[in-house]
Amino acid sequence: MARYTDSVCKLCRREGQKLFLKGERCYADKCAVTRRAYAPGQHGQGRKKTSEYGLQLRAKQTAKRYYGVLESQFLKYYEMATKKEGKTGDELLILLERRLDNIVYRLGWASSRAEARQLVVHGHFTVNGGRVDIPSFLVKPGDVVSIKDKSRKSDKFKSVLEANASRPVPKWLDVNRETLEGKILALPTREEIDLAVDETLIVELYSK
Ligand code: SF4
Repeated sequence: MARYTDSVCKLCRREGQKLFLKGERCYADKCAVTRRAYAPGQHGQGRKKTSEYGLQLRAKQTAKRYYGVLESQFLKYYEMATKKEGKTGDELLILLERRLDNIVYRLGWASSRAEARQLVVHGHFTVNGGRVDIPSFLVKPGDVVSIKDKSRKSDKFKSVLEANASRPVPKWLDVNRETLEGKILALPTREEIDLAVDETLIVELYSK
């Protein structure tokens, strides 16, 4: 499976915004977007006129990279979104927010979505009491996600939880920092998803 292996900070600089791909560094002054707010490469600081297709492509790449999913997976989410009743762009982002790796990250149990994905694959979480090791697992309102008893005692988890304790948790999730349980109170609205992207551009791209 083809995975991006170059510096992930370049992806943020390419999209002109923080995609939070690197954990704690993303919240510090060292963040590459804070230090060099222009696209990477020789022509990164040049003025460029972007075509309509270019804008649509950038919007899609931004969302895809933010959630760390592959092209084929992203297309699958788009197709699922088109079958839902709400606005396709909103439904697309809501589906991506429902991924278990995103939930783990949002609850502050991982420093990045990439780390969350790895922790999920290694079987550290349960959903409604059952082990789930599939990062793309879609949660629904009422579900309870927990860190497994054995895992929560590990030094790794202790340091991750400590490092992310002050990160705000979205209102549609409830986290109990004592029992290490997270409940999905509701699905997020578009306004509650903090990704700065025009999702209608993504819909336009795929509607061609
Ligand atoms: Fe992006 Fe984080 Fe790197 Fe900043 S530190 S450019 S937010 S990956």
